[in-house]
Amino acid sequence: MKLKYLGTAAAEGFPAAFCNCEHCKKARENVGAEFRTRCQAMVDGKLLIDFPAETYLHAVRYGTDLSAIENLLVTHSHTDHFYAQELCNRGYRFALNMTAPVLNIYGNSEVHAVFEEGTRRELRPAVAESLRFHTVRAFEEFTAGDYRVLTLPAHHDEREEALLYCIQKGGKTLLWLNDTGILPENVFGFLAQKGIKADLVSFDCTFADDEKPSSARHMNIYQNCEMRDKMVKYGILNTNAKYYATHFSHNGAPFRERMEQMAQKYGFIAAHDGMDVEV
Ligand SMILES: [Zn+2]
Ligand SMILES: [Zn+2]
Ligand SMILES: [Zn+2]
Repeated sequence: MKLKYLGTAAAEGFPAAFCNCEHCKKARENVGAEFRTRCQAMVDGKLLIDFPAETYLHAVRYGTDLSAIENLLVTHSHTDHFYAQELCNRGYRFALNMTAPVLNIYGNSEVHAVFEEGTRRELRPAVAESLRFHTVRAFEEFTAGDYRVLTLPAHHDEREEALLYCIQKGGKTLLWLNDTGILPENVFGFLAQKGIKADLVSFDCTFADDEKPSSARHMNIYQNCEMRDKMVKYGILNTNAKYYATHFSHNGAPFRERMEQMAQKYGFIAAHDGMDVEV
């Protein structure tokens, strides 16, 4: 599988939309190299993880044929992960000669509610026909095109069942773990029981190396290490597994070189916008 990190910031982006902190001011001085957009990743040019407002920017920036995406896995309904309004442009006179006739969208019931709310005013019947929403819950398994997908419950928001995804194809396994804090034991038990041996794990590292995380719904690099240790204990990692960190907050001064050095120190790789990874 070919994984492309399209956006690697937390909800506010980096530099953050309305922020004048020292980090954001410094990032604006070299914005071409330092900016991080909201979280999104693409697998093989066919599957998307999350759909932030920057989806359009990402498609233009990396020359992506968005109409070729057949499956979209949405982690949860927060605005940095799901901007439903953009989907109104997938068809009618707004999009011609599309590659894939249908886009399958997978998400929890709250994501479905946001989909309905966000598209209520502008969704044309012809566009609606090309969008299939599938409501999924944690601990489910389904096939999306060429991919086998398992859903896991995130520790993120008590108002909805935020999801994490395990994606498999051609004997390779990708574990997508944001947004979430430390996961409970039953999640690792579930993966072990399913025989998962992950080749790449992408961790929520919102708080970077801040030793006092301000909430339990995201992680810092030390908690990433803790989670990795648990995965080793449960035997759900391949021997050559690689570990990536993403979803960085502006509070953690997520300058590219700083994040790379921090991650490397603990055996991780810090993702950046536009990064290509072979799973
Ligand atoms: Zn987020
Ligand atoms: Zn800031
Ligand atoms: Zn979130």
